[in-house]
Amino acid sequence: MSQELHERLRRVHPGIVVSSDAPLGVRTTYRVGGAAAYEVEVHDRDALETLMPHLAGYEGDVLIAGKGSNLLVADAGFDGLVLRLGRRFGEVEMDGTRTRVGGAAALPVVARKVTKAGLGGFEWAVGVPGAIGGAVRMNAGGHGSDMASVLVWADVVDVIAGEIERRPLETLDLAYRHSNLADHHLVIEVELQLAIGDQVEGARLLEEIVRWRREHQPGGQNAGSVFKNPEGDSAGRLIDAAGLAGTRVGTAVVSTKHANFIQVDAGGRADDVHALMVTIIEAVEERSGVLLEVETRIAGFDDSPLVSSGMDEPGCYEE
Ligand SMILES: Cc1cc2nc3c(=O)[nH]c(=O)nc-3n(C[C@H](O)[C@H](O)[C@H](O)COP(=O)(O)OP(=O)(O)OC[C@H]3O[C@@H](n4cnc5c(N)ncnc54)[C@H](O)[C@@H]3O)c2cc1C
Repeated sequence: MSQELHERLRRVHPGIVVSSDAPLGVRTTYRVGGAAAYEVEVHDRDALETLMPHLAGYEGDVLIAGKGSNLLVADAGFDGLVLRLGRRFGEVEMDGTRTRVGGAAALPVVARKVTKAGLGGFEWAVGVPGAIGGAVRMNAGGHGSDMASVLVWADVVDVIAGEIERRPLETLDLAYRHSNLADHHLVIEVELQLAIGDQVEGARLLEEIVRWRREHQPGGQNAGSVFKNPEGDSAGRLIDAAGLAGTRVGTAVVSTKHANFIQVDAGGRADDVHALMVTIIEAVEERSGVLLEVETRIAGFDDSPLVSSGMDEPGCYEE
């Protein structure tokens, strides 16, 4: 972003907050990694619509930041523009079994709200610590369901084209931890189709899911599953079979509770997490011939073999 654009954006709308050298890695659930060269936070739809023509045609790298629960930022930081939705994008509006949700709404909050209102079909999301926008991009899911099972449409801003488009589910190509959204596509609102549920049964299910997570997944600084499960197998099983549970690179360690989780020590380094990801991929390929695909999005790792931010297709490993 040029200094001129930076200065201009500061003045165009009170709901647009522009910062440089903005904390980024520490705002992810790994809580490690560097800053973003620039960050723009938009507080509401009016601010966003004012912002759009100013960013249209932007040529630098763009990264949309949600809750950072599936994101690893290099220690050197991200030399591009981070866009973030403010709290006004966190609203939830129920109308019968249809529910409109802002892109910044936290999945566990939405899951509890709709379940309490007697709606069913979103209980699985109580254990996923992301926001709605990131969940669409990743087609987040669990416990036998996912976003694709409930999504009707998503309002998506093409930051580079400067346009908003309502994208019906069929146009998003949602599949296992996949969508066709690119790094410059910002999800600002969605509509969900839920079912008529039972409040008591729903509350029990939420409790069961939370308990299951506590028993089977580690706490601490992590970003959930690091690798996608290959067809018919589980990444955790393959990592375990390669004898990698407990393997450490500097401040990053393969969880002994769930081998598809990497945990980082407090004050640790993102570059250690990245190096451990590469170690795991190589060891699993050597042991079982399976090339694991990274689920976690990475940003700022310039010469990384793990292609992610800045690329439309995440997760490839380039040898
Ligand atoms: C303890 C733990 C458990 C987890 N369990 C699960 C699980 O069971 N199932 C599962 O699927 N995931 C799980 N995750 C991963 C993560 O929570 C999901 O992928 C979540 O949907 C990411 O949302 P986010 O807002 O944190 O996105 P971020 O991590 O901020 O970003 C992830 C990707 O989405 C993009 N993005 C973010 N916001 C938007 C937006 N508004 N518009 C467009 N793109 C956007 C980012 O640019 C990036 O490419 C887990 C993570 C943790 C830490």
